[in-house]
Amino acid sequence: MLKKLFQSFRPPIGGQHHRRTTPEVINSAQHSLQRSQFSRHAVGIVERLQTAGYQAYLVGGCVRDQLLGIPPKDFDVATSATPEQVRAEFRNARIIGRRFKLVHVHFGRDIIEVATFRAHHSDDDQGDAHRSSHNASGRILRDNVYGTLEEDAQRRDFTINALYYDPVSERILDFANGVHDIRNRLIRLIGDPAQRYQEDPVRMLRAVRFAAKLDFGIEKHTVQPIRELSSMLREIPPARLFEEVLKLFLSGHAALTFEMLVDLQLFEPLFPASAQSLEERPTYTHTLISQALANTDLRVKQGKPVTPAFLFAALLWPALPARALYLQTQGVPPIPAMNGAAHDLIAEQCQRIAIPKRFTLPIREIWDMQERLPRRSGKRADLLLDNPRFRAGYDFLLLRESAGEETDGLGQWWTDYQEANDSERRDMIRDLGSRDEGAATGQRKRKRSPSKRKRTDDDVFD
Ligand code: ATP
Ligand code: MG
Repeated sequence: MLKKLFQSFRPPIGGQHHRRTTPEVINSAQHSLQRSQFSRHAVGIVERLQTAGYQAYLVGGCVRDQLLGIPPKDFDVATSATPEQVRAEFRNARIIGRRFKLVHVHFGRDIIEVATFRAHHSDDDQGDAHRSSHNASGRILRDNVYGTLEEDAQRRDFTINALYYDPVSERILDFANGVHDIRNRLIRLIGDPAQRYQEDPVRMLRAVRFAAKLDFGIEKHTVQPIRELSSMLREIPPARLFEEVLKLFLSGHAALTFEMLVDLQLFEPLFPASAQSLEERPTYTHTLISQALANTDLRVKQGKPVTPAFLFAALLWPALPARALYLQTQGVPPIPAMNGAAHDLIAEQCQRIAIPKRFTLPIREIWDMQERLPRRSGKRADLLLDNPRFRAGYDFLLLRESAGEETDGLGQWWTDYQEANDSERRDMIRDLGSRDEGAATGQRKRKRSPSKRKRTDDDVFD
């Protein structure tokens, strides 16, 4: 499968595959797009800007996806008008962003993103840090150098993302042979791949994301520098990586994405502790993560909600035991050791990927649940069932079992318990006898009822 993904494709004879100043113009008879397929708000913006004398097109993912018969996620507009000029045309427009200034035009809950044509950076631009700046390794820190349509096409990432559709003339402008690559199902960077990754290492993740989402191969020269440059992801601000990682894993193709990330050595800079577990306990770690991602993909396809917390809980779980064991060798009792390990692991992970508090708390609760699900006697089982995290905790238990963790049939017990009536439940609890009261958890239990108990990071241990 991976072989197919990374197949290469011979560029058309005549060279200059991805650099042209005059576009190939594909008129309405030669392509399948129709104006009516695009958001009428986006089309309205383009018409309005054109009437005001600017150039304006639909661009990027919405053109690419429609050509492939996929419903687009959002509609982006590119224009020769500056953000201020765009704002002046629309009452419902706001300028956003610093690294990359854009205009959001609001139509109720629908937002259309309008970007001004941008150019590549030249050294001359470097003096003006408000417009453009690079760091020592060539990474673009600010990208507000405006340019022509041609320049805008060249600074986009992949050829298939550099197609411009004019809904008025219904023509497509193709500066980078993007239509050719769509036909041949290839992800190909525009320009020199190594340089384009150095400018923005996140493009490495985007290559993987689009390959998985579209079921495309990554062209040979585009894939070639990735392994060598993958560690550049460590320089990306953790908040941006959080957004990208969500896109990678909530796209409905997370299982395949994970395989590709590992293969291209992009997983390690994102999840260093998990990558280490993948080396130390490959089968277990791989099964647990793949299974979690496959479940996520299924839920996305069924239109069910997915929580990033569950995803991160699974991605990090394999790294926990080694850490907890280490703390135990330092004399920390088992449960505080587990909590200490959880706390440290999340803190460490947040240095790479800024997981917001609203997700880190539920991650801890899902993990916490794993310690509590075995302790079922008395009223505990019923209290656990009422816990708002029960479902996630139970699903997580089944996930662990599917990866081969030995739990003495605990998952099945909970499945049966949920289906049982009151008297059957009483029997099930009675049958447990004393065997569920793990010796390890000893004295500290009976003080607070599980539903009231709320752990904070501080009470973990000092
Ligand atoms: P989707 O919205 O389906 O995720 P998309 O291609 O629309 O895919 P966006 O992130 O919405 O992706 O970006 C819109 C367009 O902006 C892209 O198609 C591409 O042309 C350009 N672009 C986005 N990110 C980059 C980048 N890091 N480097 C160069 N061009 C980019
Ligand atoms: Mg988009």
